[in-house]
Amino acid sequence: WAKADGKARWTLFDPERNEHRMTRQALARTLRQAVDRGEFVLDYQPLVALDTGRLRGVEALVRWEHPHFGRLAPNRFIGLAEEDGSIVPLGRWVLAESCRQARTWQQAHPDRSLVVSVNVAVRQVWDSDLVADVAAILRETGLPPRLLQLELTESAVMGSAGRPLQALHALDEMGVRIAIDDFGTGYSNLAYMSRLPVSALKLDGSFVQGFRSAEHPNPADETIVEALVELAHRLGLTVTAECVESAEQAERLRRIGCDTGQGWHWSRPVAAAAISDLLSA
Ligand code: C2E
Ligand code: MG
Ligand code: MG
Ligand code: MG
Repeated sequence: WAKADGKARWTLFDPERNEHRMTRQALARTLRQAVDRGEFVLDYQPLVALDTGRLRGVEALVRWEHPHFGRLAPNRFIGLAEEDGSIVPLGRWVLAESCRQARTWQQAHPDRSLVVSVNVAVRQVWDSDLVADVAAILRETGLPPRLLQLELTESAVMGSAGRPLQALHALDEMGVRIAIDDFGTGYSNLAYMSRLPVSALKLDGSFVQGFRSAEHPNPADETIVEALVELAHRLGLTVTAECVESAEQAERLRRIGCDTGQGWHWSRPVAAAAISDLLSA
């Protein structure tokens, strides 16, 4: 009866939920100083050309090495950082650190043209001087602009009149690439995207996860991806598939004509040193 008793008490006081709330509050309190204290680190995940298997780029993914809670994934703190505005200094640090690292790789392997892809939050486009920050960071690090890609979500660019649109055009003129992240989860207005200075789509992981399998013998997702890739190519956009976890998925994507893939099939996000090893191998 211990279980039933436990259950009854849980409706009154859920220790797990309470702990989660307290953790959230503690994280929110310590977020602001965390950038200054240097508690964030970047992992990098390979983006691989599906036809040749070559490493084409890496996506920088932030983690928080919290002094009390240990290593935290971005879903634990990015939302909080957007709410309280600390995403602006955090995002600036991510950009600077990724560009510094990418420049190191470029100098060690000038023939590789490895692109570093950096996630940019909506608020960085609206509330900060993103264009000036990017220009200053490229100047200070010496990274060629074509080796930097910024990932924005559809919601960050949809209906983007005014400031975001100006920012996109200014970044494009600088030579920085723009990719639409998690494509397919929002409005997915390709006609609209094609009018923006966007050069790549990153198909949301849910598409690949819906590919044919024992559970989904007749998936619509594969047909949709095929049509999306064809349309994107006609509009001059390249396509990356996220969350590729198996050789079979990678092969299907290659046959469909998708350009690059990213996912556990090749590598989980890893420390910069592991990417350096890959480049030297
Ligand atoms: P995202 O930009 O769509 O990044 C891809 C996420 O998918 C990463 O999660 C990555 O670890 C995960 N992933 C990669 N391959 C696979 C796979 O094969 N299977 C599965 N199931 N997952 C895979 P992560 O690192 O936890 O990041 C989550 C999200 O947090 C990112 O989604 C991005 O929206 C956000 N994020 C990460 N770093 C930053 C950052 O520096 N700035 C901002 N604004 N957001 C960030
Ligand atoms: Mg991303
Ligand atoms: Mg994504
Ligand atoms: Mg995603």
